[in-house]
Amino acid sequence: MIGLTGGIGSGKSTVARLLAERGALVIDADALAREVVEPGTSGLAAVRGRFGAGVVRADGSLDRAALGAIVFADPTARRDLEAITHPLIRDRTREIIAAAPPGTVVVHDIPLLVETGVAAHYHLVVTVDVGVEERIRRLVALRGLAEDDARARITHQVSDTERRAVADVVIDNNGAPDALVAQVEALWRRAVAFEDHLRRGEPVRRPERPVLVAVDPTWPDQARRLLGRLRYRLSPLLGEGLALHHIGSTAVPGLAARNVIDLQIGLSAPADADRAEVRDALGRLGFPRAEEARGNPAVTGGVWPERLHLSCDPERTVHLHLRPAGSPGWRWALLFRDWLRADPDARQEYAQLKRDLAAREATIAAYTRAKEPWSQAHASRVESWAATTSWRIPAE
Ligand code: ADP
Repeated sequence: MIGLTGGIGSGKSTVARLLAERGALVIDADALAREVVEPGTSGLAAVRGRFGAGVVRADGSLDRAALGAIVFADPTARRDLEAITHPLIRDRTREIIAAAPPGTVVVHDIPLLVETGVAAHYHLVVTVDVGVEERIRRLVALRGLAEDDARARITHQVSDTERRAVADVVIDNNGAPDALVAQVEALWRRAVAFEDHLRRGEPVRRPERPVLVAVDPTWPDQARRLLGRLRYRLSPLLGEGLALHHIGSTAVPGLAARNVIDLQIGLSAPADADRAEVRDALGRLGFPRAEEARGNPAVTGGVWPERLHLSCDPERTVHLHLRPAGSPGWRWALLFRDWLRADPDARQEYAQLKRDLAAREATIAAYTRAKEPWSQAHASRVESWAATTSWRIPAE
């Protein structure tokens, strides 16, 4: 389930068409918005009931100009209109998705993805990005808009920066159409593999060797988007107080790391980890349970139980650790992260150790084991740092 967005003139419709040609089921949110108020629909009757006969033309169709004049001037009227149309559009969207055969990649073409705050509903959010002046040029030259009109419409929408903030994939359409096709091809390959793993409930197998990559400044943003999805799907099952954190090396700015986003879900009732609804929700979100059980040896030498879920997205390795909130392992993951964030010397020492071990160890398991003595050796230093700084469990 891909959410596709982009400002007017960015090439979003072109991307939707290219994806449809490759086999995606494209749901056009604007088209559905028109469909639910076509002549004879209950939607149009409700709109007429609220706004009067003046918004319906003699031929029985909606008078968009008349309705627009009312709702643009009056926020309450606009909310009333949305209260009528949004549920109808949502139900119709669900119907179309439910009728799609297994193996379908659904692309929801939704210009107002950011404005309606639905980014967390999708497995991937894609935005099509083009500089404003080029968009205006294309809208004028290719779609026949007046320049003032094109400019006004762009000003009226959210900015490209806001769209990029919610997007997992930014398609750069400043270049030639061929360059667009190449990016859509890459996206399609990713989507097909993602869907395949998702449907089979099997995480993508990753290479066994420990490979450190250059620091990616977008790791925290990627984590924030993933956590948003988890919160959206899990809150109804586990409550609003769900503790969700980005942990591990990618959560420490400036620290070289394996390209893995580690996320921690703290469970107030640990048995929730094995509830079928919770496992299924995580699986549908693209994080099925990993086969291997994991124990995280404690600083004190004990074993912390956790449940590990892994990612179906071939281009994003995620380790999702479900741990009892308040347990030593849960706390240590947060404390160790915050200490590394705060102490540049420790960070440097740890980075050097990781580089040495990544070069030496043949497998990730061996690499991970070999790292443990270092954190154990520093446990008392970390704890005294926690005491002197009055460290508390962070909200994020
Ligand atoms: P949107 O749906 O985002 O408003 P469209 O897909 O309709 O945008 O694209 C706007 C216009 O730009 C269309 O006429 C489209 O054919 C054209 N277009 C799309 N991508 C490119 C490109 N890379 N180079 C030139 N023109 C493009």
